[in-house]
Amino acid sequence: MKNLKQYEQGRTFIAKLKYQSDLLEEINKICINENIKTGWINAIGAVSSLKLGFYNQETKEYIYTTYAYDEAMEIVSCAGNVSIKDGKPFCHLHITAADKKGKCIGGHLVAGTAVFAGEVIIQELLGEDLIREPDGETKLFLWK
Ligand code: ZN
Repeated sequence: MKNLKQYEQGRTFIAKLKYQSDLLEEINKICINENIKTGWINAIGAVSSLKLGFYNQETKEYIYTTYAYDEAMEIVSCAGNVSIKDGKPFCHLHITAADKKGKCIGGHLVAGTAVFAGEVIIQELLGEDLIREPDGETKLFLWK
């Protein structure tokens, strides 16, 4: 099966994210500094502000402002992966966050989310390079 690749487990990293750091950029930085090319990512914690993206499948563009919030929320789940885009590690993360009433919102995590407290686990995977390239149908950078 062409779309199925097999990997072995590599290093496992656990990091405490800095107060008021950018959630996506901090996780990206870890992957670049440690040269984690492929892996899965899981994070929990809380954010002081949250910025989400939503990909409009008709216009093939991300909508950011509609899902931009500016309030404290719990990170219920933030999960994703790291693969290679433009020759370097690239993190793709989605997040679900809850407000004080437990009401959740979620979406594609973009830069602009401020960490209040964050605990992240990154599991490196070893094997064939997993490379993102432009996809004709979706106009997204998908795995080759
Ligand atoms: Zn996404």
